[in-house]
Amino acid sequence: MVFQDPYASLNPKQMVGDIVSEPIRNFSNKSMKELKDEVMELLTKVGLPGDAYYKYPHEFSGGQRQRIGIARALALKPKLIVADEPVSALDVSVQSQVLNLLKELQDEFDLTYLFIAHDLSVVKHMSDRIGVMYLGNLVEIADKNSLYAEPLHPYTQALISAIPEPDPRKQKERIILQGDVPSPVNPPSGCPFHTRCPVAKEECSRVKPTLKEVKPGHQVACVLYN
Ligand code: SF4
Repeated sequence: MVFQDPYASLNPKQMVGDIVSEPIRNFSNKSMKELKDEVMELLTKVGLPGDAYYKYPHEFSGGQRQRIGIARALALKPKLIVADEPVSALDVSVQSQVLNLLKELQDEFDLTYLFIAHDLSVVKHMSDRIGVMYLGNLVEIADKNSLYAEPLHPYTQALISAIPEPDPRKQKERIILQGDVPSPVNPPSGCPFHTRCPVAKEECSRVKPTLKEVKPGHQVACVLYN
């Protein structure tokens, strides 16, 4: 797992070498030398200098700390990495470096990412297949191209309409949702989006739609498609 906050997810009392080697120590009997060699290689792979091994987390910037978190996630050679908002706490310029690193590592280690983010440009850059969630519910699942070209769920349509258009000559109609996001502790009855949906029907407050495949590989949870 790679966590959202690179400041809170590394033990400030441990050197980077100990942080990254801990998963390996827990699951193998490697000698100190083997451990150190392996961690050094991981640190190099994520773009950190070798002397990072002997430093503490506070000696690094946010982007570098996230690289340490990525090295730790790679330590056990996983097939799947869950990356929970891994760049949202970073400056925009650093975000692209970390995203490009994740892409390079994906190719090198043949990784699958479950990549959680709220920035739709980042999601588009990183994903092959996307699941859109509202209030803890999956409301639409599709491959990247279908989702961005033809979003079907009203919430996805609103999200995609909010992506800024860099060309000032192009007009874009933005769907602005009214009201606040309800508390997930006490979600609305029926469709969880009905209190804000611009096309809600009377039945939407009673019926909770489930995901239904409306096109090959494209699933939507909305009464409009049931
Ligand atoms: S089920 Fe109703 S409220 Fe929910 S997204 Fe569809 S139209 Fe909107």
